[in-house]
Amino acid sequence: MKQGIYTTLALCACGLLGAGHAPSVLAQEHAAHVHGVARLDVAIEGATLSLQLESPLDNLLGFEHAPANQAEEDQVKRMSAKLRAADRLFAPTSAAGCKPEKVTLESSALDAELLGETGDEHETDAHEHEDEAGHADLDALWQFHCARPEALQSVEIRLFRDFSGLRELEVQAVTPKGQRGATLTPEKRILTW
Ligand SMILES: [Zn+2]
Repeated sequence: MKQGIYTTLALCACGLLGAGHAPSVLAQEHAAHVHGVARLDVAIEGATLSLQLESPLDNLLGFEHAPANQAEEDQVKRMSAKLRAADRLFAPTSAAGCKPEKVTLESSALDAELLGETGDEHETDAHEHEDEAGHADLDALWQFHCARPEALQSVEIRLFRDFSGLRELEVQAVTPKGQRGATLTPEKRILTW
């Protein structure tokens, strides 16, 4: 556990010093909490397209703690609203006729209610709080129902436009064509398979 925290701090320090990204290091640190970087798992199962994000909260919100005042609470609500606009954040192949079906947001640092969750499906007590170094993640799951899933060939990831703190997405995709990994950035935002 301690080891993990030191690794996180070391990687965060690299970013702060502007030393630039070292892709080989990041590739080995999928689960690490590195500001600016997030993980996105994309899956197609039948008619359902799922996109699951695991991101440092800082990338999306600019801080990683429960809101301490009204201004921070408003920031959380704005972030939630943006994350819930699934058809603005993702553009699957238009011929596939995919429509947003469900969005789930969860963070160890934020109340489910603030994230717009109805509370029925979640047992937030079970979650750990911010880690010892004061970092916290946000997990999001978007699901689309596609009328013609066989036409799906790509998804443009537009998260970068609404969240300037997000610089790099490590993507794993499981599609009818198999599994593949990709690194997306604001300049390279289209995942194809
Ligand atoms: Zn952090």
